[in-house]
Amino acid sequence: MNLTNNLRHTAEDHPDVVAIKLDDTEITYAQLSGLAAKTAQWLRDLGVKPGDRVAVSLPNIPHMPVLYYGILWAGGVVVPMNPLYKDREFAHVLSDSGATAFFAWNGVAEQAAKGAAEAGVQFIEVDPATFVGQIAAHATARPTARDDDDTAVILYTSGTTGAPKGAELTHANMVRNAEVCADDRLIGLSAGDMVFGGLPLFHVFGQTCMMNAAVLTGATLTLLPRFDPQRALEIIERDKVTHMGGVPTMFVALSQYPDRDRYDTSSLTRCVSGGSALPVEVLSAFEDTYGAMVLEGYGLSETSPVASFNHADRERKPGSVGQPIEGVELKLVDPDWNEVPEGSDGEIVIKGHNVMKGYFNNPNATDSVMHNGWFRTGDIGRRDEDGYYYIVDRAKDMIIRGGYNVYPREIEEVLYTHPAVGSAAVVGIPSQLHGEEIAAVITLKPGMSVTEDEISEFAKERVAAYKYPRVVRIVDALPLGPTGKILKREITVS
Ligand code: AMP
Repeated sequence: MNLTNNLRHTAEDHPDVVAIKLDDTEITYAQLSGLAAKTAQWLRDLGVKPGDRVAVSLPNIPHMPVLYYGILWAGGVVVPMNPLYKDREFAHVLSDSGATAFFAWNGVAEQAAKGAAEAGVQFIEVDPATFVGQIAAHATARPTARDDDDTAVILYTSGTTGAPKGAELTHANMVRNAEVCADDRLIGLSAGDMVFGGLPLFHVFGQTCMMNAAVLTGATLTLLPRFDPQRALEIIERDKVTHMGGVPTMFVALSQYPDRDRYDTSSLTRCVSGGSALPVEVLSAFEDTYGAMVLEGYGLSETSPVASFNHADRERKPGSVGQPIEGVELKLVDPDWNEVPEGSDGEIVIKGHNVMKGYFNNPNATDSVMHNGWFRTGDIGRRDEDGYYYIVDRAKDMIIRGGYNVYPREIEEVLYTHPAVGSAAVVGIPSQLHGEEIAAVITLKPGMSVTEDEISEFAKERVAAYKYPRVVRIVDALPLGPTGKILKREITVS
């Protein structure tokens, strides 16, 4: 089981099928495989050896899959990063992963180059106009053999607590999850299908369920670098998109888009939703409008990602994240890992072929989430009598804004660096547009004054655009628990 072999086999079976498309640019499977082989040679020339980490930060442009598969072809480990990162975020991931090289899109080159310099990692700027020419100048490398248990990707995520950690996923993890996604009971992909590529490929959902599932089967991935409902509808009509994966906010935006009737979207047959809870009303509004079935699933970066799903061949229960996928078990436990009584809420733990090796170079963090092969998710769930799971709440405080995870603690730490801030709590507040919006509630140090806008600006300069608090409230005091811990659940933001 090897991601590179998936590409090679598909390139043999469907050489002329378009693998990746971005508007007028099309790359066939034969071309994608050829470019990956040349990228691999370039990487070898740069000193990349099997097992070395190579970081990439690109939006959804064809160069992303080319680099992804090129790194794997060279036997390397892909470390994808959100291009919205700021220099210190890039530097953290580059240092933590011990990356040998870092490829970043020229649109973010300034922050990326700064991050690379801070981490002392060699930096290669990706100019879409000339990059393919640079790759083509290299010889064709033979693919490096990799075992099932060799690491394929390291995905940075905060997990249940603390600073971003690298979830180490093997070739077997990634291949088996792509197979599950492509199966008829889930997305149901085959050669020639047209997959909408609006989910970021640096995140596990877009990576496994869209890109790798397409490459496995010979489907075409039609990319959209930045989700926008009008552009999405244009692409669905233009390319006769058959399958779409999205986070709930995408389904909301498409259902509510005023001019939706002007587009022919009749090609769309099946959609999958994940990443955060899909409100039942949104599911039915979308299905009513577009006539395509939406299946909701659940998972995490640490589980490649899919762990459970509303399978297409079974009863579908809106509001539920369905039943565990084949070969994967879920159960509900208390903080001591004991299974909770039937019918009670508990923390979801997962075991099976989708569970990561561990957090890269971080045995303490790994030990805190793994126990006898079970992985604790930090999500509180419940199970009904048919074995369907429901996500009750996130035990962790993670905020999901427009499908992007935001970890309050990280933003709070930035806010605390402001000279006027006494204490800070970052919470998610409901937002129609983004699902959740980031709000910061702060107290000021005695004698200090600052405006709410100044605090928002301060954070904006220091973290990726999706993370900074749009809403800031200055209060006299934050609610505190007996140990002095800020009681986030008691914070209300008006
Ligand atoms: P990530 O590692 O970025 O994929 O984020 C994983 C987290 O997203 C999980 O721990 C859940 O809190 C949340 N999540 C994923 N899918 C769902 C879903 N269908 N319903 C509710 N929360 C979800």
